[in-house]
Amino acid sequence: MEKQNLLEVRHLTKSYGNHVILNDISFSIKTSSLVGLLGKNGAGKTTLMKTILGLLCQYSGEIIFEKKPIRHQDASVMNQISSLVDVRFYEDMTAYQNLNYLLLAYPEMTGNRRKQRIMELLEMVGLEKHRNEKVKSFSFGMKQRLALAQVFTHEAKLLILDEPFVGLDPVGMEEMKLFLKKIQKEKGVSIVFSSHQLDEVNDLADEIIAIAEGSIKYCGTLSELQNINRKYRIWFKGETEPVIVSYEEEILQETIKNYFDQGILPEKIEVLENALYQLFV
Ligand code: ADP
Repeated sequence: MEKQNLLEVRHLTKSYGNHVILNDISFSIKTSSLVGLLGKNGAGKTTLMKTILGLLCQYSGEIIFEKKPIRHQDASVMNQISSLVDVRFYEDMTAYQNLNYLLLAYPEMTGNRRKQRIMELLEMVGLEKHRNEKVKSFSFGMKQRLALAQVFTHEAKLLILDEPFVGLDPVGMEEMKLFLKKIQKEKGVSIVFSSHQLDEVNDLADEIIAIAEGSIKYCGTLSELQNINRKYRIWFKGETEPVIVSYEEEILQETIKNYFDQGILPEKIEVLENALYQLFV
């Protein structure tokens, strides 16, 4: 069955004064998808996320959530979206107290269920041993873990995560990737995360949206993009110049056969890969 669009952004433009930060951005996010928003620092990723979340207003274009124009003032709509963007903590409270405070917003949750949920969240991000330490004593990586725990205090349909791996050590990063994949599959949640690291996006995302200077450069899967960017370079015996053809098996075979029929044998076949850095410029 074709997946439905959960979020659609149509012709979104956002400026500060004369400075256009987001320029006619359009894309959609399907249900239960993991989408990487890729771009170098200053590309506009945070601005895009904040605009979707209603943290920045005065934009042109449309943001459609579950087939309706998003109503940022409506808590029942915004409760469907959880985010890790500009997270703040109560630094003088412990990790446990910070999560407890957030969960108090759900009066239907019993005290016992709340305690259980806090411990689940702390375990999920590997902070259970530090639960009674004040946040002000936490390292940047520990704060990032706590921020991720906060994202999961309520069950949302869409998670918007701004640079979720920053500050995590390699083990923490791998655990977090596995966790995000797991909740996408098991709970059918859609996750949009930003990164300036192609590797992070490549590992995790089903689809990427590459953004540079406020414009979308590419939307689609990374493998499609790699195939578009790939070419075969064939060196034939006795020829001074190689032959370059598109990255398609049939075309490769046909080219080799054509030369073979003239008695010319291939010497070396290489795969040329146009650097993906193009996504960033
Ligand atoms: P990214 O998240 O990709 O690093 P940002 O969305 O933070 O990029 O920033 C995109 C651009 O918008 C940058 O040029 C930045 O300087 C500019 N910008 C961000 N916030 C403001 C603001 N409040 N006022 C003016 N310019 C801003």
